[in-house]
Amino acid sequence: MVRLDEIRPNEVAVDAPAPRDAGLVYIGVIRTPWTSRLECPRQGRDDGPPCRIEVFPPWDQALDGIDAFSKLEVLYWLDRSRRDLVRQSPASDGRTKGTFAIRSPVRPNPIGTSIAVLDGREGNVLLVRGLDCLDGTPLLDLKPERSQFKPIAPPQKGDFETGRG
Ligand code: SAM
Repeated sequence: MVRLDEIRPNEVAVDAPAPRDAGLVYIGVIRTPWTSRLECPRQGRDDGPPCRIEVFPPWDQALDGIDAFSKLEVLYWLDRSRRDLVRQSPASDGRTKGTFAIRSPVRPNPIGTSIAVLDGREGNVLLVRGLDCLDGTPLLDLKPERSQFKPIAPPQKGDFETGRG
């Protein structure tokens, strides 16, 4: 069902902090073993070290039901990145690629994404593996990993006549 601006039965709304900039709010913080980019992996792995995602109030209320999923998409703000490069040389070998053709943390809006394995939950803290960000990286969003959802088929021609539409 398409959502407009309604509040549905049993949904809970909270007073959100005033937006800054594009309106993003940091909803938590990610705790990892890495304090330097030199030691931080370039991409996370399912068998990587345990990390903690601490979700701040009031957003911790939004975790209800998340335990049902084994994998999460984690979106975070790569806060220590520069943001001004349009071509980059990942191998530092003089060859460059456009920023949007690589997964470098240096981007105009330095959003990082990872698929994390959800190992457990302690209240507002998720225990995960599969991250690749520095300790203290701000959390932007969490979603169940997309393959765990069945796509909703768009209406097909003829559905109206068959009563499907
Ligand atoms: N998995 C994410 C993605 O693909 O969108 C991020 C990939 S990026 C290549 C991961 C690298 O970003 C790490 O190896 C580290 O060098 C850097 N990094 C991690 N946390 C960061 C932070 N908070 N600020 C700036 N750079 C960070």
